[in-house]
Amino acid sequence: MTERPFTPEEEQEVRAARLAGRTASCPRCAVPMRERSIGGGSFGLGYARHRTWLLCPVCRNSVIFDAERGTRT
Ligand SMILES: [Zn+2]
Repeated sequence: MTERPFTPEEEQEVRAARLAGRTASCPRCAVPMRERSIGGGSFGLGYARHRTWLLCPVCRNSVIFDAERGTRT
C-alpha cells in the first residue's frame, strides 16, 4: 500500500464532491471518507472557524478545507 499524498487533482475531486453535498469518497480507494469537523480556536486564528477534515480510512490521506465559504472557482 503506497502512502502518498493526494495530488491537487485528487484533492479537488474530494472537495468538489463534498461541496456538492455528496459523501466524498477517496479517489484512490473508492471508499467513503470519514468526516470530522474541526472547531476553531486552537489554531491561533483568533476566531472560531469551521473546518472540515476528510480522512480516508484506507490510505490515510486527508483533505482539510474551510467549510465556511463554498469557494468554487
Ligand atoms: Zn484512500
